[in-house]
Amino acid sequence: MASLDLDALAARLPDRPLTRFAPSPTGYLHLGHVASAIHVWGIARALGGRVLLRLEDHDGGRCRPEYEAALLEDLEWLGLEPDAGAIGELRAGTSPIRQSDCGGTYDEALRRLIGAGDGGGQVFGCDCSRRDIAAEGGDQFNEETPYPGRCRERGLGIATGRGVRLRIEAGTERFTDALLGERVQRPAAQCGDLLVRDRRGQWTYQFAVVVDDLRHGVDLVIRGEDLLSSTGRQLRLGRLLGGARPPVFLHHPLITKPNGAKLSKASGDSGIRELRRAGVSPAAVLGRAAWLTALLDKPRELGVGELAG
Ligand code: GLU
Repeated sequence: MASLDLDALAARLPDRPLTRFAPSPTGYLHLGHVASAIHVWGIARALGGRVLLRLEDHDGGRCRPEYEAALLEDLEWLGLEPDAGAIGELRAGTSPIRQSDCGGTYDEALRRLIGAGDGGGQVFGCDCSRRDIAAEGGDQFNEETPYPGRCRERGLGIATGRGVRLRIEAGTERFTDALLGERVQRPAAQCGDLLVRDRRGQWTYQFAVVVDDLRHGVDLVIRGEDLLSSTGRQLRLGRLLGGARPPVFLHHPLITKPNGAKLSKASGDSGIRELRRAGVSPAAVLGRAAWLTALLDKPRELGVGELAG
C-alpha cells in the first residue's frame, strides 16, 4: 500500500472499522476482484478492522446463482474469509447480505426518501426508455450521460412499469479520498436525477449500495477507481437517507497488463477458475493480482497472512 498514509486514515475512523467486499455475481471471479479484495483485506487487517462480505445481486437480469456459488468457492479457495457476512450463512438460504433477499429494506428506504421530501417531491415516476434518454442526450450518449430531465416536471406518480428517480439539485460534494486526496464532484451535472428503481422494478446499484453501506454501518469503502465518479452522488443520497456520518472512501487503481492494457475475461488471462484449473496456487494468484495493481514490484507468492504488510 505504497502511497497510503495509514495513520491519517486510522485517525478518520472508529476503532475496529468495518469495510466491505461487495462483488456482483454477474460472472466468475477474476483478477480485478482479487486486486480489490487484497486492498480490502490488507487495509482492514492493517487497521485492526473487519471485512463484511456482501453480494450485490440487485440486477436479477445479470446475476446467476451459479456465479454466486462459484464466487463463494473461489473466495474460500483464496483463503479470504470475511469477519461479517459468513459464507456458510449465504449458502444456507436468505441473508441480509444478499441484496436480492432485501427488497423490503429498499422499499422502506424509498419510503423514507419520499417522506423526507416536501410532499414526496424529491422522488418522481419516470417512463423514459434508454432510447428516450439517448435521444435527448444526443450524440454524446453513454452510460454516464446525465438524465436530461424529461420526466422531472411531468408529475408522474410511482407505479408498476415506471422507473423511480430522485431529484438531484445543483451543488458540490467534497470528500477526501484516502489515496487520491481532495475531490470535488457535481452530481447534478454528472448524472442528473438519479435512477433508484428501473422500469422492470430492479433496484439500481447506486441506491442499493448506499442503503446497504448505511444499514451495515460501513465505515470505510474500498473499491476500484472505476467507481470514483459515483461517490458524490452516493454521499448526497446517503445524507437524504438520514446518514449522519458518511464512510471514508478509498479508490484503488484498476489492474492492467504489464503493457498497460486492461485485462479481459475473453482473453482468458484473468479468470480465477482458469488459473485454478491450470494448477496455480492461491498464493500465486494473490501475488499476481497484487503485482497487477502495483502493490508488488514483481509477481511472487503472497500468503493471505501477509496482507497487512
Ligand atoms: N458491486 C460493485 C461491483 O462489483 C462494487 C460496489 C462498490 O464497491 O461500491 O463492481
